[in-house]
Order: sequence, then structure tokens, then C-alpha cells
Amino acid sequence: MTIKQYAVIGLGRFGVSVARKLYEAGHEVLGIDINEERVEDAEPYVTHAVVADTTEEKALNSIGIRNFDCVIVAIGIDMQSSILTVSLLKELGIKKIIAKALGKRHGQVLDKVGAEWIIYPERDMGERVANQLLSPNMLNY
Ligand code: ATP
Repeated sequence: MTIKQYAVIGLGRFGVSVARKLYEAGHEVLGIDINEERVEDAEPYVTHAVVADTTEEKALNSIGIRNFDCVIVAIGIDMQSSILTVSLLKELGIKKIIAKALGKRHGQVLDKVGAEWIIYPERDMGERVANQLLSPNMLNY
């Protein structure tokens, strides 16, 4: 396996679960959050964790964000921060940007500013559950 460098911005439940899986699979994972407590809580599940406001270009540069193969933006409620972060990452030349969206409009804007893959956690999970219920192996439900 080629070890990749991932950065996960926003260490809520979604961000931490993505970060943790990648880390457990043997990849290098940097966790980033503006909230110090979130960073401390995530430390056991990532290679490194740092406190930073990713809407600031300076902060992204000092982290060395350009060196990462893929950046996952897991900020949701603060839509402005989510959009600003994705657009800065795009400007800095990050090729693979994955972003979480809370709704359709949010997702459309993330697409416009440069996210390659947009995830709608609730919608996607709902569809997954329904698909499982509809699969022939799940007739008992
Ligand atoms: P989840 O649903 O994944 O549990 P959440 O409900 O905590 O997430 P979100 O708004 O999705 O809330 O935020 C995820 C994380 O993003 C939070 O821990 C928040 O501190 C972080 N965050 C918000 N703005 C910034 C920013 N500008 N820079 C870095 N991290 C940020």
C-alpha cells in the first residue's frame, strides 16, 4: 500500500471518523480544528493534530497544506468557514478536496469553489440504509 498524506479539517463526529479510519489503515493523517478541545480529543486517532483557523491563508501555509495528497473539509454548520476553506485550498493548488455539505445549496457552492467530491452525510447514510433494507439478504426487516 502507498502511504498517503491526508489532512482532515473539522474534528466533529464526521471528521474524526474519517480521520480515524484513514489512520487505522496506515496513512498519515493531520487533524485540524479551530477548537482546542476538539483537537485534544482527536489526538489518539490521528498522526498529528493542530489548532488552526483554516479560513486564514497564513495558517494553511504554516501547516504546509500543499504537501497533502488529499484534504477533507468536514466543517458543516459554519457554512462560511466551510466555503472559504475550500476556496483557499483550491487557490493553493490542492488537487483532491473532499467537502461535507449540509444541504443542496451548500453543496452547489462547494462545487463551484473547487471541491472535487461533496458528501451529504445524512442523505448519503439514509440512502445506504434504504439500499441495505432493499437488498435480498435483508428480507427480515
Ligand atoms: P459533526 O456533525 O461532524 O459532529 P459538528 O456538529 O461538531 O460536526 P460542524 O459545524 O460540522 O459541527 O463542525 C465541525 C468542526 O469544524 C467543529 O469541531 C468546528 O470547531 C470546526 N471548525 C469550524 N470552523 C472552523 C475553521 N474556520 N477552522 C477550523 N475548524 C473549524
